[in-house]
Amino acid sequence: METKYIFVTGGVVSSLGKGIVAASVGRILKQRKLKVFMQKIDPYINIDPGTMSPYQHGEVYVTSDGAETDLDLGHYERFIDENLTQQSNVTAGRIYQSVIEKERKGLYNGTTVQVIPHVTDEIKARIFKVAQESKADVIITEIGGTVGDIESLAFIEAIRQIRYEKGKEQVAIIHTTLIPFLGAAGEFKTKPSQYSVKELLSLGIQPDILVCRSDAQVPSSILDKLSLFCNVPREYVLSLPDCSNIYQVPLVLAEQKIDLFLANLLKLKISSLDMKEWQTINNKIDDIKNETRIAIIAKYANLTDAYLSVIESLKIAGFNCNTKVKYDILDAEKLTVKNLKETLGKYEGIIVPGGFGARGIEGKILAINYARTHKIPFLGLCLGMQLACIEFARNVCKLENANSTEFDLQTPYPILDLLRGKSYSDQMGGTLRLGNYPATLKSNTLASKLYQKSIVEERHRHRYEFNNDFRQELSDKGLIFSGTYQEQDLVEIIELPSKVHPFFIASQFHPEFTSRINRPNPLFLGFIKAVTK
Ligand code: GLN
Repeated sequence: METKYIFVTGGVVSSLGKGIVAASVGRILKQRKLKVFMQKIDPYINIDPGTMSPYQHGEVYVTSDGAETDLDLGHYERFIDENLTQQSNVTAGRIYQSVIEKERKGLYNGTTVQVIPHVTDEIKARIFKVAQESKADVIITEIGGTVGDIESLAFIEAIRQIRYEKGKEQVAIIHTTLIPFLGAAGEFKTKPSQYSVKELLSLGIQPDILVCRSDAQVPSSILDKLSLFCNVPREYVLSLPDCSNIYQVPLVLAEQKIDLFLANLLKLKISSLDMKEWQTINNKIDDIKNETRIAIIAKYANLTDAYLSVIESLKIAGFNCNTKVKYDILDAEKLTVKNLKETLGKYEGIIVPGGFGARGIEGKILAINYARTHKIPFLGLCLGMQLACIEFARNVCKLENANSTEFDLQTPYPILDLLRGKSYSDQMGGTLRLGNYPATLKSNTLASKLYQKSIVEERHRHRYEFNNDFRQELSDKGLIFSGTYQEQDLVEIIELPSKVHPFFIASQFHPEFTSRINRPNPLFLGFIKAVTK
């Protein structure tokens, strides 16, 4: 079967959950035994989100091959359970960069380089490349932003051309849109969605399926009206009110037969639909009575999107341990020796997630010290591992002012330092250790017990490394270096022995990127198990 393309666009407003809709369609089609691959197109000029503030963009998700990508790729991977690649996140920045490089090399043979056809050809090439490399039956491509944005015009035009060239049986368009409820009028309103479909039509695209987002169930008569105004058959107008958890979305869309409509539009050969496992997980989530409270000690307090994969990993580990994880993202800068007990005393586990820059690190170190000395389960992620080493060096080994050279170039004890190739340019992103590296686990450690393997591959995104000059000293005082990347002798996991602490482990890599709904990452699972004990 030739690869089929499904494009997911968004109307009216951003933050509709287009990524979850795209990921859910992916999961349902996978349950129909189709090979699915996913891609996100972001219309901004940044090459990738690696350099963007978490306030703007939330977390940077990292693929196994080391791409720094939009957080929606995290949803895609958690939902469809396929490893995505560098090709899965395309930005306008990348497209323009490669068009300009080609122009400079004279590859356009003296023609005037224009949005159409040169930029649109580049966009199409990226979409076709994914199809070719992944050999998937279906490629689902989400277009970031909202239809009507100036930035996304070239992308919408590229989709129009793909559909025109390949024909309707190869290309389907799902438009996710908003049906707002006006409290004062007591009515759901279709007009914004009508306008957004008109906007798409004016760009030459007739959507095939509408997914209508709303905060409550929309009456059928409202959807009838939308169907009429938008030339979309009534049964292809689906309703997606807010769900109690995002993992219900595939069930809601499957119940409305989105897979059958897509199969009909694209002439897909599908097997019978089996959503049993997904349903069982959702039933389990609904039935959970116990609660667990976790503190995430962070630079960006209350900014859920900045720690999205951490939070999803906690929730997923929670479902698997029969507990609902309640978390607070606390401002590390507000922690002091005085308020530490009062602030952290009510939590059953403490996480220090990844981060860059000095802001908040002393508060995080205080929290780690609290977790270590009060025997509270602790999980450190990337920066969290680095700070756990600093805390141990300062307070157990008495290395006063031990630090990372990221935060203090003058520190007498550079526990973390730039170690791999010290040449740094002003190019952002170029000096990070990114993507999968294998860690060899020491036997009879917490790490090897949790992973049940001797070598694990996990994803990285960091610049500083544990400085091996201090390994002996910290290890003499009881810190266990339980995982290393052997080729370069880099520290990957540290932990405390079970006789001194019930659960204290931290990794240089980001375990949060590999939790899947039916397969929590072992470090998160171990952490939640320890917390619920
Ligand atoms: N800032 C640290 C480093 O660059 C940790 C990075 C992270 O937590 N992702 O090494």
